[in-house]
Amino acid sequence: MRIDFSIRDRLMNRSMNTLGLCFQCGTCTATCPLTDASTSLVRRIIKYAQYGLVPSDEKILDFIWRCTTCGMCASSCPRGVDIPAIIRGYREILQEKRLIDPKITETLWRLYEAKNPWGYSSADLKKFRLSFKDLYSQPSERPDYVLYSCCSVVTDPISQRVARAIVKILRSLGYKVSVLDPMCCGHVIYDSGEVAFLEEYMSMISETLSRIEAPIIVYSPHSLYMFRKIYPELGLKPSVEIYHHTQILAELVSSGKLKTKSLEGSSVITYHDPCYLARYLRITEEPRQILENIPGARYVEMEHSRENTLCCGAGGGRIFSEESIRLARNRLREASDIKAGTLVSSCQFCLRMFIDEAKVYKTSLTEIIDVSEILSRLV
Ligand code: SF4
Repeated sequence: MRIDFSIRDRLMNRSMNTLGLCFQCGTCTATCPLTDASTSLVRRIIKYAQYGLVPSDEKILDFIWRCTTCGMCASSCPRGVDIPAIIRGYREILQEKRLIDPKITETLWRLYEAKNPWGYSSADLKKFRLSFKDLYSQPSERPDYVLYSCCSVVTDPISQRVARAIVKILRSLGYKVSVLDPMCCGHVIYDSGEVAFLEEYMSMISETLSRIEAPIIVYSPHSLYMFRKIYPELGLKPSVEIYHHTQILAELVSSGKLKTKSLEGSSVITYHDPCYLARYLRITEEPRQILENIPGARYVEMEHSRENTLCCGAGGGRIFSEESIRLARNRLREASDIKAGTLVSSCQFCLRMFIDEAKVYKTSLTEIIDVSEILSRLV
């Protein structure tokens, strides 16, 4: 076996020099929600990377594209190896060799041609704007906040519910909120390893951000990750602050500006931490601060919480795949174990995965909603 130093160095750089630390313990495979420990898949990928080899084994190639980049492996690795970064590094290499998951290619083409990864047309966008006129009514003066919606808002009612709830809460407190036209944050491009396209796309994002003068609120943890971590690494530093909506809402609750009515006779409420929010951005306390402070709420934690959260199955570009990975079921089972009636989260994709899975898997849950939705009912 001949070591290919150019590939090894590339993956080493991607992993922030952690690749060489791996001592092949296999903890990553054991904790990965996608693989059976007997396959040693994750550990083997790291071994390939240490030798600078591009795997040809179908199972490994398939895994590299199916990985949700949830980060469970990295958070349990005793050597601190940045495993998702190595997976992304391999995706970049596979892109160059045209060994790509066709679903990812289709998604990128939709984004290139229709300017969104879902494939809706400009007529759909126009129709959406008309039916959501109230949301898009712009304040006459400079806004206090700008809401950057996830691009799924045009077609996904879950995303629409979240955008509405955030705007309703803020406007009820007298804040002037303007809502931007939906624009993909580019996370799917980053996850696909299409470096050239991401750089081109970033110039569009940069132009949009440069026109914004007020703090931006996003409800997608994926958008927040791109704006706070990835774009700045690539040289785009937004000139305004960018927050996740749970941060803004928690601040309003703790300062006493946002007072809620009591949630009388509530069933058990629990919270699911989205992987990108909890493991990548370390935002775990704000949603709890909100939920635990609702008068009358019976808040209970599930077995896996905070940085040890479970993956819903949507990350890594999997939300755009029709294949059902069924990871959401693990979370629904945990919610049922504590007899929860309400499962709350703060990511439109997690909510989508749970709501879809709950249609075919019986649980104790009566509703699955965003943090902003529970608050908006009580203001
Ligand atoms: Fe290597 Fe870390 Fe995986 Fe162990 S958990 S095999 S050290 S990458």
